[in-house]
Amino acid sequence: MSFNIAIDGPAGAGKSTIAKQLAKELGFVYVDTGAMYRAMAYYFITNGIGAEDEAAISAACPNVNVSITYEDGVQNVWLNGENVSSVIRQEEVGKMASATSVYPVVRTKLVELQQELAKTTDVIMDGRDIGTVVLPNADVKIYMTASSAIRAKRRFDELTAKGVECDLDEIEKDIIERDYRDMNRETSPLKKADDAVELDTSDLDIDGVVKAMKEIIAEKR
Ligand code: C5P
Repeated sequence: MSFNIAIDGPAGAGKSTIAKQLAKELGFVYVDTGAMYRAMAYYFITNGIGAEDEAAISAACPNVNVSITYEDGVQNVWLNGENVSSVIRQEEVGKMASATSVYPVVRTKLVELQQELAKTTDVIMDGRDIGTVVLPNADVKIYMTASSAIRAKRRFDELTAKGVECDLDEIEKDIIERDYRDMNRETSPLKKADDAVELDTSDLDIDGVVKAMKEIIAEKR
């Protein structure tokens, strides 16, 4: 039986940074489910399909093949045979992912792939519906949060370090919009699973969060 750790929470709470580090330390595979929604979104963008056009999205889904592979523990995301791991990181793709992940036809396809991965492998999987829908029987569930101001500042610092010019208020506005959409959609909205442990990372640095997570995991292993 594989051991599964589910991490959910809003954009910028620190899920992927922490999950990556923990996966390395624990020898688990890190599964970034947001990257899968981003790959689908990238397909819609490059094929000129609008986020509101549910009929076109439904018609396109059977033509979209998303898969993931691992190289030295790093996840690569493939879209119809093309490695899209870096292009899907653009803000535009994140926004489109949030707008198109509301459709059940998009979710069903990716949830199956995620469940298949967790069946046979010890995974740390992060997303929005992992503890509630994808892995309801996960051994450990963590709901990671932080204030929108802190999350915006983290994103701002990350972009600035890469030399990208950006505006802190704009980033926070986008984050609040994305949270609202993720938390209020009809299918698999972002919410804390009843049996998840909530971890507010607002006042913690990376080492502090990793330490707190290890304590939560140690109790269940
Ligand atoms: O985590 P990330 O920001 O890369 O995710 C992009 C978008 O994909 C999220 O805003 C969310 O709308 C969607 N998503 C989702 N369910 C997941 C992971 C991501 O709906 N399990």
